[in-house]
Amino acid sequence: MSEADVIIQSSDHVNFRVHKLILASSQFFKDMFSLPQPPDAGEFVDGLPVAHLPEDAELIRALITILYPIPSQIPVSYDDTLALLGLAKKYDMDGVGSAIRAELCYKKLPVLVGPQAFRAYAIASNHRLIPEMDSAARRTLDFPMTFKYLGEQLELFKGWALGDLACFRRLCRDNLVSCFESFLDAHSSPSTIWVGCKEEFQHHPWSTSPRKSCHSDGQRRKEITRKGNQDGPTLPAWLWDFFSQQIEELMEGFANALTKPSSIREEYLMALQAHNDRYIDGCTSCLKVHAREGSEYSERLVEELEKARNIRMPPSLLSPFGVRSWDPSTGKRPFWFEPSSN
Ligand SMILES: [Zn+2]
Repeated sequence: MSEADVIIQSSDHVNFRVHKLILASSQFFKDMFSLPQPPDAGEFVDGLPVAHLPEDAELIRALITILYPIPSQIPVSYDDTLALLGLAKKYDMDGVGSAIRAELCYKKLPVLVGPQAFRAYAIASNHRLIPEMDSAARRTLDFPMTFKYLGEQLELFKGWALGDLACFRRLCRDNLVSCFESFLDAHSSPSTIWVGCKEEFQHHPWSTSPRKSCHSDGQRRKEITRKGNQDGPTLPAWLWDFFSQQIEELMEGFANALTKPSSIREEYLMALQAHNDRYIDGCTSCLKVHAREGSEYSERLVEELEKARNIRMPPSLLSPFGVRSWDPSTGKRPFWFEPSSN
């Protein structure tokens, strides 16, 4: 390769001798080098023009390792990797961005736990890194959105990003609530299988009261379920309480993590067990239903919850200049409200 023909100087005054041709894969640098320079203008070191960049040497070194055919040095920390992706985006280096993401895929993404997920979302949103914002936002769902988790990360957040994360969590929460509500309905599939429970036609003193703030159609659905005592099928009280409890917890706002579909089957089994243990001879009806169709039923529940929760962050929430087409006050669902494909 020919001699370097330009010097990049980092914010901490480290010089990198590079080739304009390599940097010209970036429209930013291409434009910079194409500007006519008067012969006495600018700074020169060893006869080479110097371009000053506001990034530090570590970040620029990582960038150069990706641009040149040498082993790339992706930063170890995810924060720094996001900063590097941000740098690629800032300088219009799409190829660099793709190379970093491919490497991350290969190495497997770090599992972001608790505050790390909120931190990654904040950093990704500051650099407008849409795929990383989306995946970090989804990761935050496993944790409450409280000061304990946001705490130190709050200063990293732009106001719009925090508001959009809250909006996204509400969308997922509402989806999950609708899913549980559909399972509360003993008149339609899949909950029609629950017949003959000992508690079915009794007064249930341990039942939770209908939740105070719910959708009007959800409320109606529950009333239908309760009326089932006289009018037709009704859900066994233990199962009704189980789903109602899940809804109650979801409606507690940001104080709770969102339901994890992977753990719901175990919780369902525990509720069934507790119900069965209330009777000396158990509840043979529920045990029979469970033996026959319980596994398929709980599998369906997991699947539906996954579908409800696994939505992509809407494009309008992924840009500070996006049009907010969703109005939380009306709850009207916009056009992009579709489950994610993966
Ligand atoms: Zn029963």
